[in-house]
Amino acid sequence: MAYVISDNCVACGTCIDECPTQSISEGDIYSINADTCIDCGTCADVCPSGAIAPAE
Ligand code: SF4
Repeated sequence: MAYVISDNCVACGTCIDECPTQSISEGDIYSINADTCIDCGTCADVCPSGAIAPAE
């Protein structure tokens, strides 16, 4: 499992600097590489938009 970023993302960049495995990529909305995400939850904790959650 990995965390995923929803359409609520405003591409603020807060999560990128916090990810310990550099799994987050920039874009119109950001995305998480499921192959390298270690499910630590750090990005979800820091996201000001509440856009990041564990994949269902
Ligand atoms: Fe990176 Fe952790 Fe978020 Fe996965 S859960 S993308 S490892 S900060």
